Amino acid sequence: MNPSTIITDELRDFGDRARSLRVASDVTSAEIRRRLERYTFAQQVPLVDSLRDVADMLQRWTLHATHPRYFGLFVPGVHDAGIWGDALVALYNPQLGAWWHAPAANEIEGHTLRFLASVIGFEGDAAHFTSGGSEANLTALLAAIAAGYPTAVADGVGEAAARGAVYVSSQAHHSIHKAVRVAGLGSRVLRVIPCTATHQLDIVALRATVADDVAAGRTPLMLVGTVGTTTAGAIDDLAAIADVARDSGAWFHVDAAWGGAGAFSARLRPYLHGMERADSLTWDAHKWLSVPMGAGMFFCRRAAVLRTMFDVEAAYVPEESAEGEDLYLRSLQWSRRFIGLKVFLTLATIGRHGVAARIDRQLDAADYLRQRLTSGGWVIVNHSPLPVVCFTHPSLTRRDALPEIAREVAAGGRAWLSAATLPEGPVLRACITNDETTPTDVAVLCEELERAMGRSVLRAGT
Ligand SMILES: *Cc1c(COP(=O)(O)O)cnc(C)c1O
Repeated sequence: MNPSTIITDELRDFGDRARSLRVASDVTSAEIRRRLERYTFAQQVPLVDSLRDVADMLQRWTLHATHPRYFGLFVPGVHDAGIWGDALVALYNPQLGAWWHAPAANEIEGHTLRFLASVIGFEGDAAHFTSGGSEANLTALLAAIAAGYPTAVADGVGEAAARGAVYVSSQAHHSIHKAVRVAGLGSRVLRVIPCTATHQLDIVALRATVADDVAAGRTPLMLVGTVGTTTAGAIDDLAAIADVARDSGAWFHVDAAWGGAGAFSARLRPYLHGMERADSLTWDAHKWLSVPMGAGMFFCRRAAVLRTMFDVEAAYVPEESAEGEDLYLRSLQWSRRFIGLKVFLTLATIGRHGVAARIDRQLDAADYLRQRLTSGGWVIVNHSPLPVVCFTHPSLTRRDALPEIAREVAAGGRAWLSAATLPEGPVLRACITNDETTPTDVAVLCEELERAMGRSVLRAGT
C-alpha cells in the first residue's frame, strides 16, 4: 500500500460511500483531541498510516457537504476534475503572483476567467482569482476607495471614512460588514437598507438614504447589489441599483458569490439583468460550480484603479515581463496558488452546456421540494428563483421550534438542513447544492421533517 493507492481508493468509491454516510456528525472536541494525542511529533509516523487515519477522521467527523442529502449552506458537491486539479497544483506548486514565474498557470487562469467573464457580460475587463468571496468583496471596496479617493493610497482612508458611505441590503453577506472595518472606514459608514417583502434591497429606501447622505455633505462611495442572498436567495434589482449608482457617482459592486453561476442557465439569466452594469463583481466558483474551496473570483471594469491600490515596488522581484501582467501588482496576494486549475478542468470536463444542465437539475430539485413541502402543510416564506427554500409550519408557534426541528433532522443522520432567521421570524432553510440530489433524496428530507415534527410536538406537550 502506498499513499497514492490510499488516495485513489478514497476517490474511487467516494460517491457511493458518501451516500451511506451519516450526513452530520455529533462528535465532541474531546473525542477528536484524544485521537490526536498519538501525534506528539516526537516519533515519525509513516505517511500511509497518518493518511489512512486522517481519512477515517474526516469521514466520521465532518458535516458532509458533498452528501446528496446535505441541504445546507453554499458548499457544493464537487466534481472529480477539481479534485485531481487541486492535487496537480500541490505537486507543481506554481507561484502565480508574477506572470513569468508561472506562464502556463497564469495563461490557463486568464483563459478561464475570460470565458467566465463572457458568461456574465464582463468581456475585456480585469479579473483574478481570490481565496473566496470575502477577499473579492474586500478588493471591491478597496477599488472603490482608490477610485473615489486616490489620495487615500498615500494619506489613509480618513477622508473616505469621514465623507463616504457604503450601502448594502439588510440581507447582504456579512463579509461586506467585515470589509468596511478591515479597510479602516469603520462600520459607521455602512448604510443597512431594509428589504422588501421579497427580501430584495428596497430601492425607494436606498434612494431616500442616498439623498439624506448627500444633503448632509456625504458622497456615496459604494452600492452593493446581491445575487442570491445567503438566507433567502433574493436577487436585488440590479438595474435599479445601477441607476442609483450612475446618479450618485458611487461604485456599483455586485456580490454574486453564489448566484453568479445562474448566468449559465437560460431560466435564470432574466433575473440577472443589470449585472453587466457593475463596476466590479464577486463570484465564487466554490459555491455553485462544483469545485472544491476556495475559488473566489473578482471581476473589475477599471483595471487602472486596481493598479492605483495595489501596485508596489519590490526590489527582490524581477521586472514585469512584456508577455503578461503580474497579478501581485493589481491584487492583494503575493504567493498565489493556482486556484483556477480546478475551475478550468471542471469546465473542460463538463462543458458549458453541462454546467447549465447541472444548474437546471438543481432548480428542478428545488421545485420538487417546494411542491412536497406545500402538500405536506409547510408554508414557503421566500420567493427566490434560486434553489433555496425557506419555510415554516403553522403548528410550530414556539420561537425555538424550528431550530429544534433542524437539530432533530441532523441527529437522524439521513439529511441536513439549517435554521435561519428572516425579518418574518425563524425559518427552516433547505438549499440544493449537489447535482446528485435526486427526487428520492428530497423525499427523504421531507420524511425526516415529518419525523422531527412528530417528536417536537410530543415534546412540547410534555
Ligand atoms: C459565500 C458568500 C460570500 C463570502 O464568500 P467566501 O468565499 O465564503 O469568502 C460573500 N457573499 C455572498 C453572497 C456569499 O454567498
